[in-house]
Amino acid sequence: MTSSTTPVTTTSAALFDRARAVTPGGVNSPVRAFNAVGGTPRFIRSAKGAWLTDVDGNEYVDLICSWGPMLVGHAHPEVQAAVAAAVARGTSYGTPTEPEVELAEELVRRTSVEKVRFVSSGTEATMSAIRLARGFTGREIVVKFAGCYHGHVDALLASAGSGLATLAVPGTPGVPASSAGLTIVLPYNDKVAVTAAFAEYGDRIACLITEAAPGNMGVVPPAPGFNAFLAQICRENGALFISDEVMTGFRASKQGQWGLDGAVEGWVPDLTTFGKVMGGGFPAAAFGGRADVMGHLSPEGPVYQAGTLSGNPVATTAGLATLRLATDEVYAHISAAGETIKAAVAAELTRAGVSHTIQATGTMFSVFFNDGSPVTNFPEANAQDLPAYTAFFHAMLDRGVYLPPSAYEAWFLSSAHDDAAIQHVLDALPAAADAAAAA
Ligand code: PMP
Repeated sequence: MTSSTTPVTTTSAALFDRARAVTPGGVNSPVRAFNAVGGTPRFIRSAKGAWLTDVDGNEYVDLICSWGPMLVGHAHPEVQAAVAAAVARGTSYGTPTEPEVELAEELVRRTSVEKVRFVSSGTEATMSAIRLARGFTGREIVVKFAGCYHGHVDALLASAGSGLATLAVPGTPGVPASSAGLTIVLPYNDKVAVTAAFAEYGDRIACLITEAAPGNMGVVPPAPGFNAFLAQICRENGALFISDEVMTGFRASKQGQWGLDGAVEGWVPDLTTFGKVMGGGFPAAAFGGRADVMGHLSPEGPVYQAGTLSGNPVATTAGLATLRLATDEVYAHISAAGETIKAAVAAELTRAGVSHTIQATGTMFSVFFNDGSPVTNFPEANAQDLPAYTAFFHAMLDRGVYLPPSAYEAWFLSSAHDDAAIQHVLDALPAAADAAAAA
């Protein structure tokens, strides 16, 4: 067991003070602020392989991996070399480029999409996919699931209304009621609720969007056949089925979540969104799907969509280099590393008497600090002992393991998580499990 020597964080703390003076909450994306777990967020100076180094010189095994993208580890030499060569050729031209074509071909090769359009963030991808679905169908209503996050798109920051299949209310100030009011929010994994919503609103529903396997309420795998059912009910009602693979794409498996269900069961989404891994650590994301649907996008069709930095040559080069490295061996390694860590977490939490549930889809997993019940939807995901997670998180952080600063996130690994990095995680677990038990 490693002993806890609480790391010195004075430089991070000073930067956090400066950051808060000029940026709301001191961060550029909320969960980075440690609001859920308290304490000083670590300002990271550099990263290599599986390790982060903060501005005070502390080192951590990284189990966030930039919230998914760093599939082959930080500063991978081949990705770095490709990016350096791209930068040397200039960083943005506002013209078509070869790396865009190559990355698009790679996405088409790996997944179910026939055509793809690049954007700069997952939010832009889901926003654009919804606009396209509305433009294609001539309908306005969007169906989503509680606990699924699709970025900060107005229509998707909606909370369930009072009834089973009622139109939603804004999930945050700043979202117009008129926007959320065109969204239906349903319980995840609930075929009855989906059937009821389509029975009532079927001829007004433009699309149903779902995380291909939810990872934003912790990992909650779709019940067997659930995604196939969604694809079918959309087809029967003339609505488009949008599978959001921003997190799962090229992460849950080589072909994303679709490789685990659609490719096996023989169905395809009408549209799919991608981000994270496909950008190799740069701002790149995409949406794609059926050629006839994508043909409705400008300049081929009437649905407007554009972006100054879309398909940026440095970002697409990084994504392409990352995907070319993402071989079967990479997924096998990440899977094996995940099995080792999951087994050790389960053993230590059990030894310490901390009830929990570990859930996975492909190589993606998370740990729920709950009563040991399976988690199938958002209310169940919410039934967690947050003080126990907070204690566990800080005990791990003190021992040099950077977990997501929230109990509702997946833990991410990379092909750079070698034996030494994994052992470092295992060594930290006993004390963290004891801390969770004492919380
Ligand atoms: N969809 C999913 C499933 C996501 O996990 C995320 C980000 N976590 C997004 C969309 C939004 O992506 P971005 O943060 O790049 O806008």
